[in-house]
Amino acid sequence: MLNCSECGRTLEEKDALVHTTEDGEKKVICQECFKELTGVDYQTFALRKENAKQTFIAVLFCLACTAYAWYDKGWMWGVGGIILTTLVYLFSSKAR
Ligand SMILES: [Zn+2]
Repeated sequence: MLNCSECGRTLEEKDALVHTTEDGEKKVICQECFKELTGVDYQTFALRKENAKQTFIAVLFCLACTAYAWYDKGWMWGVGGIILTTLVYLFSSKAR
């Protein structure tokens, strides 16, 4: 069993969040305190993190395709791929 270091509530291990304070100290907190400390709902935070991961994967995938197209079909395809990758990146970060 864990205790929230802010409000002292007992937490299930799966509900416990680790919050790093500005001076680098790690604290175990509950989701409500997370919201109070960061101003962001934990669900929103988790969603953003997930989106960032998906953007990263999408961009990585595009880069791999670009590299392949460049190698296989010539530099013009490579440049097209880079433009497409940039668009994917911009679109994904806007959608967030
Ligand atoms: Zn708490």
